Amino acid sequence: MPGTDPLDLQSIIDDIHRDLTPRLGEGKVADYIPQLACVDPKRFGMAIVTVDGAIHKAGDAEMPFSIQSISKIFTLTLALGKHGENIWKRVGREPSGSAFNSIIQLEHEHGIPRNPFINAGAIAITDLVLAGHTPKEAIGEIVRFVRYLADEDDIVIDAEVARSEAATGYRNFALANFMRSFGKLDHPVDHVLGVYFHQCALSMSCVHLAKAGLFLAASGTNPLTKHSVVSRQRARRINALMLTCGHYDGSGDFAYRVGLPGKSGVGGGILCVAPGKASVAVWSPGLNHNGNSLIGSLALEMLANRTGWSVFGA
Ligand code: GLU
Repeated sequence: MPGTDPLDLQSIIDDIHRDLTPRLGEGKVADYIPQLACVDPKRFGMAIVTVDGAIHKAGDAEMPFSIQSISKIFTLTLALGKHGENIWKRVGREPSGSAFNSIIQLEHEHGIPRNPFINAGAIAITDLVLAGHTPKEAIGEIVRFVRYLADEDDIVIDAEVARSEAATGYRNFALANFMRSFGKLDHPVDHVLGVYFHQCALSMSCVHLAKAGLFLAASGTNPLTKHSVVSRQRARRINALMLTCGHYDGSGDFAYRVGLPGKSGVGGGILCVAPGKASVAVWSPGLNHNGNSLIGSLALEMLANRTGWSVFGA
C-alpha cells in the first residue's frame, strides 16, 4: 500500500491550524438544540491517521463533540453488512441537490430517499439496522461497532443530546411517517427515530473519528487493528457515496474544492478519506449555508492542496 512519506503531515496540519486561527468563529453554529448552540464557535480540531499508523493532531483534536450525521457512515456500513445490496431497494444512490432534511423528493419517489446520507435516507438505513433487534439492542450494536472501528472503548452517546433531538425532531418524524405511509419502513416510527437520534448523539473526538474511518482509506481493513471491516469493493463504494452525497446540497462544491470522499455533521465535524493514504477528521462548529463546517471544509481544502491527495489528481 502506498505510504504517505515524504510529506511532513504534522507541519502541514500545524500550518493549516495557524493559517485558519484568525478565522475561527466564522459560520453559524447549529442552534436547533441547546447542547449544540452552546458550543464555543472558536473550537478547532484536526486529526490525520495514515494507513501506516501515524497519528497527527492539531488544536482540540482530542475533545469529543456531537458527530451528528457523520454517524450515517457507520450505520450504512452496518446495514450493508446485514442486508448486503438489498438495502438499495429502500434507498437510492444519487445526490439529492436538496437540503439535508427535505421532504419534497420523497413524494416523487414514493418514499424512497435519494441516498443514505440525507436525513430520510439515513432514517431508512437505521430501520434496516433495527432488523431483529429492539431499539436498545440496535443502539448498543451501533456503539459497539463504532468502538470496534476506532479501537476506543470510551466512545459514548450523549444522552442529553439524544433527548433534545427527540424533543425537537418534528421534521424527522414527518420524514419517517411519510416513508412508513408508503410501506417503506419495517419498524414503528418511534423505534426507528429513537435509534436515529441516539446515533446522531454519539460523542467522538477528531482522533476517534479519524481512527474509525481508517478502514475506508485502507481498502476495508483497519491497518492499526488488522480488523477486516468490509471488502475492498464495499470500501470503494462507500467512498463513492461519500464523495457524491456526503455534504448534502454542497456535495458538488466539496468535491470541487477538496476532491475527497467526506461526510459532514451539523455539529461541525467532517470525516474525510484519502484512499490509500489517510483518514482525516476536522471539527469547527460554525456552519456554511449548506449546514457543513465552514472552517472545516477550508482546512480540508488546504490539506488537499498541500498533500496532492485529491482523488482527481495532484
Ligand atoms: N440530528 C440532525 C438531524 O437529524 C443531524 C443533521 C446533520 O448532522 O446534518 O436533523
